[in-house]
Amino acid sequence: MRKRLNFVSLMILGVLAFTSCGAQASSSTDKSVTNSDSSVRDVFAMDTFMTLKAYGDNADSGLDEAVERIQQLESELSVTDENSEIKKINNASGQSVQVSNDVKILLEKAESKSEETNGALNICLYPILKEWGFTTGEYKIPEQNKLDSMLKNTDVSKIAISDNSVSIPFDYQIDFGALAKGYTSDEIMRILRENGVESAVVSLGGNVQTLGKKPDGSNWKVAITDPFSPDKDMCVIEVGEKAVITSGNYERFFTGDDGKNYWHIIDPKDGYPADNGLVSVTIIGDSGLDCDALSTALFVLGYPDAIDHWRKDSFFDMVLVTTNGEIFYTEGLEGSFTNTSSMSAEVLKIADKS
Ligand code: ADP
Ligand code: MG
Repeated sequence: MRKRLNFVSLMILGVLAFTSCGAQASSSTDKSVTNSDSSVRDVFAMDTFMTLKAYGDNADSGLDEAVERIQQLESELSVTDENSEIKKINNASGQSVQVSNDVKILLEKAESKSEETNGALNICLYPILKEWGFTTGEYKIPEQNKLDSMLKNTDVSKIAISDNSVSIPFDYQIDFGALAKGYTSDEIMRILRENGVESAVVSLGGNVQTLGKKPDGSNWKVAITDPFSPDKDMCVIEVGEKAVITSGNYERFFTGDDGKNYWHIIDPKDGYPADNGLVSVTIIGDSGLDCDALSTALFVLGYPDAIDHWRKDSFFDMVLVTTNGEIFYTEGLEGSFTNTSSMSAEVLKIADKS
């Protein structure tokens, strides 16, 4: 089987260019920004290359504290570290485990977003991800009957949370792969703000979050990867203080012996990679955690259900790319969206019917 990993999804134009291996390059297009007083940290955590950039006098102290917080979150949330809280929950054979507020917040968000998205977000799919080999890189296409029996142990409502005590049924295993980076970027921004930083931008494996505006007072420009040519961008959006978080079928996948691609976002209906008409979903909103949960869930819901969901719950903006190569973006992005691809791009209005 051929294997391929791709981690890029977004680039911040005019500030930094993020590549698939997390390297960065100063842009020559925006002298006012590259000349500003900025500090940068590159971190590898959560299986992800992260770049944090902050401006101003307090940037270094804020960034140092943020890096410590990333390491703390990784040690709580890792699915592989024997001492992590997640591993303890997964190894507890149905017994209760005391957890931090971080894990409690993530569990509660996972439950509420699962309910809101008709079960599309499901943090109990970890055994199925292992069966496909997404956790080890030893990929295989599982038998459907094996997946069907594993799917019986994925009922999110069976996760019991009481105060900071959590239990999951015997034979269940959870992972926060769909939400952890969004929560982490929220936490980075909270810490930078508390340290007096007013302008910052982070990319966690392509998930971008910004604090304030650029030091010159202008908006940030965030490019979104073309899912059909992941080394290119397809559009640029201008944002103030926002999270811009993408889930795509090109980010982590393998090619099976049957010549088809299989990716790491699983449809809880059949245990197969979600293939419901979308190849990329970018969510733009105020909370990294909400955007991360939604990017995965709406990728699973697919086209047009993702649009129906947005019409019911439109506190966020989004950019969708369909399997047919069409871009749809929500009306809140009108005026800040620039299509740089040859794909057609259509605006979604709340008032229109899908
Ligand atoms: P990434 O973190 O790779 O940018 P996502 O935020 O979409 O992308 O998260 C994908 C990860 O979420 C997978 O690697 C896996 O750990 C987990 N996952 C896969 N399918 C689902 C699902 N339907 N619901 C919740 N988590 C999922
Ligand atoms: Mg996600």
